[in-house]
Amino acid sequence: MGDVVLYAQEGPVAFVTMNRPEYRNAQNSAMTYGLDDSFYRAAADDSVKVIVLAGAGAHFSAGHDIGTPERDVDTSFDRRAGLWWDHVGKAGGESRYAREQEVYLGMCRRWRELPKPTIAQVQGACIAGGLMLAWICDLIVASDDAFFADPVVRMGIPGVEYFAHPWVMGPRAAKEFLFLGERVPAARALELGMINRVVPRERLAGEVSEMAEKIAAMPRLGLALTKKAINQAEDLMGLQTGLDSVFGLHHFAHAHNAEAGADSLAGHDARSMRDARRSAEG
Ligand code: ZN
Repeated sequence: MGDVVLYAQEGPVAFVTMNRPEYRNAQNSAMTYGLDDSFYRAAADDSVKVIVLAGAGAHFSAGHDIGTPERDVDTSFDRRAGLWWDHVGKAGGESRYAREQEVYLGMCRRWRELPKPTIAQVQGACIAGGLMLAWICDLIVASDDAFFADPVVRMGIPGVEYFAHPWVMGPRAAKEFLFLGERVPAARALELGMINRVVPRERLAGEVSEMAEKIAAMPRLGLALTKKAINQAEDLMGLQTGLDSVFGLHHFAHAHNAEAGADSLAGHDARSMRDARRSAEG
């Protein structure tokens, strides 16, 4: 899986760590498949009861890779989230749709169904594609320096590919979150019910480990069934059909951008998104 994702185990807890700190853990496909390898390994290993997802360095994840030298959107991988064909070598919307079904929507759905409890350990930036990784975890513990944002409306796109916003924070908060695209601090995310706990930065890893150890004392099947029960309840509240319907709007936006402007991201990259945020903040 390479070293873009690290895997370690302490007692019954597996630690899966995104490891591109020099790029604030921007997710390229190598990382996506590295995460999938790690989650599969932890799910299959009987000695693992709980899985922690963390990010190395100062930030959890700044989102999808839209500009590092290792951006690998034109690379083929062994697909496993679904049965969509390889996006490489396909044109336009067909390529984008097949790719994002696999590496974004499909992978996130697959990981959400991992039948063991997962905890996201979030510090610093948790932006756009970073939200997707935190949201598919069962619990989210953040440090007091963490912040959350989905700024892709600036690209003319109605949120990231895994559109869980109205379910993880409520519809009205989701509109504010998306319309403004601003950084929401951990304390506000806690008020919205989007995360479970906020702790001082130096307490983050300790808090998560203690929580994981306590959960690990529960019976494996009981945990798996409880997770499934709550995921099913979320699905009955429309999460799955919501994800599918908004995925269509998301791809209409990509296609509109590609048809009417520079590219499917409305000409934006990581730098221009940062500059746009700074000028909006004044
Ligand atoms: Zn997209």
